[in-house]
Amino acid sequence: MLGTERLQLYLDPARKPAAAEVDAYRALVRRRGAGEPVAHLTGKKEFYGLEFEVTTDVLVPRPETELLVDRARALGGARLLDVGTGSGCVAIACAVRLPEARVTATDVSQAALEVAQRNAERHGVAERIDFRQGDLFAPVDAMDTSARFDLILSNPPYVATGETVETAGKEPDVALFAGPQGTEILERLLDAAPEHLAPGGTLLMEIGEDQAGFVEGRARASFGSVTIHTDLAGLPRMLEASSPP
Ligand code: GLN
Repeated sequence: MLGTERLQLYLDPARKPAAAEVDAYRALVRRRGAGEPVAHLTGKKEFYGLEFEVTTDVLVPRPETELLVDRARALGGARLLDVGTGSGCVAIACAVRLPEARVTATDVSQAALEVAQRNAERHGVAERIDFRQGDLFAPVDAMDTSARFDLILSNPPYVATGETVETAGKEPDVALFAGPQGTEILERLLDAAPEHLAPGGTLLMEIGEDQAGFVEGRARASFGSVTIHTDLAGLPRMLEASSPP
């Protein structure tokens, strides 16, 4: 905001901010006080060691979502699909860390895809990520019905409509709220993922901390192996479900 690096503040501690700078800073404090995420004030957010452009058209990347990338790196894969890519943070971090991978990334929001495209260019992986607009798997089905993926990743909306979320109204509803139960989109992903996975392929899906029992039971019906992973707070936050080899 001062148009300078943090280091300059230490090198010139006596510097007095100009009145316009004080006013601009106060305006930011007021916006934060009204509940706007810091990432919306700065226009950026770090995720998996990379800096991402963030606007009000995308979910602000969250640290627990890094679990998806950690697990994707451990499993590896040449063909990845990120469903509901938002800022592109998961697809892009995977493309950066898995240099052989080609990634397809879908989102229902064209505005989000434009942010994601810029983020991919910023991190030099745009030529390995194919961004497609549409609902969940629809863009993939429209491309080529035989397209199969080694890994399908998703941080979909999983909050129940009416549930209190700190950033409600600040982040896009379409990225947060799934429906009255909260599990509606998770269910659709579980139903449609098997036919889009290669043999032995894996679905990695972020979930709410109270949804593990539901998704685990549901996934057992259609996947070969099912695991729930906990985040650094010890909460169950990610489903891993693999197709038989
Ligand atoms: N974890 C987010 C929240 O509770 C929700 C993100 C999502 O629905 N994918 O604010």
